[in-house]
Amino acid sequence: MNNKYDVIVLGAGPAGLTAGIYMSRARLSVLIVDSGTAGGQMVMSYTVANYPGVETTSGWNISQTMLSQAKSFGCKVLTQSPVLSIDLSSELKSVEVEDEGTFHAGAIILATGGVPRELGMKSEQQYKGIGISYCATCDGDFFTDKEIVAIGGGNSALEESVGLTKYASKVTIVHEFDHFQAQPWIVEEARKNEKIHFIMAQDIVDFTGDEHLEKVIVASKATGEKTEIPAVGCFIFIGYVPNTGIFQGIINMNERGEILTDQLMQTNVPGVFAAGDLREKRYRQITTSVADGTIAALSAIDFLQQKSIN
Ligand SMILES: Cc1cc2nc3c(=O)[nH]c(=O)nc-3n(C[C@H](O)[C@H](O)[C@H](O)COP(=O)(O)OP(=O)(O)OC[C@H]3O[C@@H](n4cnc5c(N)ncnc54)[C@H](O)[C@@H]3O)c2cc1C
Repeated sequence: MNNKYDVIVLGAGPAGLTAGIYMSRARLSVLIVDSGTAGGQMVMSYTVANYPGVETTSGWNISQTMLSQAKSFGCKVLTQSPVLSIDLSSELKSVEVEDEGTFHAGAIILATGGVPRELGMKSEQQYKGIGISYCATCDGDFFTDKEIVAIGGGNSALEESVGLTKYASKVTIVHEFDHFQAQPWIVEEARKNEKIHFIMAQDIVDFTGDEHLEKVIVASKATGEKTEIPAVGCFIFIGYVPNTGIFQGIINMNERGEILTDQLMQTNVPGVFAAGDLREKRYRQITTSVADGTIAALSAIDFLQQKSIN
């Protein structure tokens, strides 16, 4: 396999795949490397109803379409291939990929996104995969006709909970505040759904069960009174953590590990751009990642053109 490209894109979520589509259409040689499957967090979305031009579909379907679009324009895509490190000390930048070796490029786009945030509890680890999940698309089906809990109060939490009612007989949404941060329309949709119940202003105290999860134990923030919610499944939708550990000390980021860019998606290192959820920004959606990926790609094309002129 060729080990030199015009641009290497780290991450095949919507940001990375979009960047790949734009750059390969501009006749640049592009390698996209992803540690998992292409699609990133989109794959976890049971229903995507807010991607313009596409009627309600699954995150998996959009992922596959974006991937085949990128490949059709000539992108090379490596999946199940974690990037271990990057070396930006010379003009030709290097990317070390597990089991594949080191690849080189004149420009790099960082698009490694984020992973679902965990509660950080010991019992959460114990029931992961045997009741606790972070992905409705992946695991919703396991809980057909069962009672489950969903934790969180943002857009994703409510949208995924509505999606989960296609399987579960009852979804109890537990939230730490007495109000939701989600947009009013999705709150209304959830409230209208007869299968959805709400327990507000609660802390998650514990998960219990024998062979698999059986109960989620919560406690009122106001009184401390504990409630045991019978549930064989619990979906945790409480935000994300950026995948930027391997860029620490090389790329400027904020205290939360989110990469700082300007509006052209340029980082502090010339020829290195960042796009999508790993950036410091307010809104994280497929559309915003796609927009970032477009800008990063156009900036990278411009950067390489300027370099070839000088
Ligand atoms: C449950 C859920 C539901 C959602 N629903 C919606 C929705 O309905 N509509 C909407 O617009 N948005 C939704 N979102 C948000 C949306 O999916 C994200 O904002 C978007 O996917 C971010 O795109 P990205 O390309 O920046 O990063 P990601 O999608 O996170 O992709 C990053 C990619 O980088 C890869 N990667 C990470 N580290 C490495 C490494 N070291 N080496 C190589 N590759 C690496 C990952 O495997 C991943 O594939 C949802 C998110 C979740 C979790």
